[in-house]
Amino acid sequence: MQTCACVSLSGGQGKTTVIFNLSLLLAQQGKKVLAVDCDPQANLTFYLNHEVEPNQPTLLEVLNGKVQTEDGIYSTTHENLFLMPSDRSLFKVSEYLASSGTGAFILKLRLKAVQNLFDLVLIDVQPSRSQICLTAVGAADYALIPVEAATKGVNSLIDTLEFLEEQASVMAFNGKVLGIIPFRDRWVGLTQTLESRENIATIKEFAGDIPVLPSIRESEQFKRAIRQGKLLSDIGQKDLQYPFEKMIEVLTNER
Ligand code: ATP
Ligand code: MG
Repeated sequence: MQTCACVSLSGGQGKTTVIFNLSLLLAQQGKKVLAVDCDPQANLTFYLNHEVEPNQPTLLEVLNGKVQTEDGIYSTTHENLFLMPSDRSLFKVSEYLASSGTGAFILKLRLKAVQNLFDLVLIDVQPSRSQICLTAVGAADYALIPVEAATKGVNSLIDTLEFLEEQASVMAFNGKVLGIIPFRDRWVGLTQTLESRENIATIKEFAGDIPVLPSIRESEQFKRAIRQGKLLSDIGQKDLQYPFEKMIEVLTNER
């Protein structure tokens, strides 16, 4: 089982978009995938069309040990794709994680219980240096960092790299950063906008040895696909799916 988290410390950088598309694509390729919603905003849970019922356990109850890991996992409408959902109540887990003393390792421990059931675990991470973020990063063998091709994205990249280095220095992140993905790369016809070009150049400077993977183009088609719960290829936009295919290639090469 490989565990990969999508991390960026600012909002709106494409984390949930990446996890949604990677999950569907890998599941379609026949991999058993567990998507974990580590964000109390619960966008991933919503995108995968899962409604959390009041008495049903979520990631919260798995993390705080109220239920076994399997009890917080649900099937989705997609074959091979399973979800550990969240809702706003996930906020409540912070205190438990902080007081446990080993909060950064709890998700990793909980996921060990299902390591024989899945090929891949994909984690959507809350955009802040929260306890929830720490435990998500602590569970990851690999990290992907999506960043907007804009000034906000460059700043988010700097913060995120610094954060991962800090976590690695105390052994609370033992994974590898697989790549940085520029998000909302804007083109007008066949021409990339100057803003996107300049920002991606700056992203490459800060990336150092970390590969900058093919960018996600700015397009309304992504929202359309998500609204329909489908892959871009399923709505006739296979070209736009290329960055996700490339991420899978990079992940596969790590095996
Ligand atoms: P948060 O930190 O708030 O969870 P995020 O990093 O998960 O945000 P997303 O939710 O994936 O970011 O994307 C931000 C917004 O951009 C969403 O409204 C999404 O629908 C939209 N979006 C996704 N893909 C594209 C795209 N290729 N072009 C333009 N907008 C997009
Ligand atoms: Mg998100």
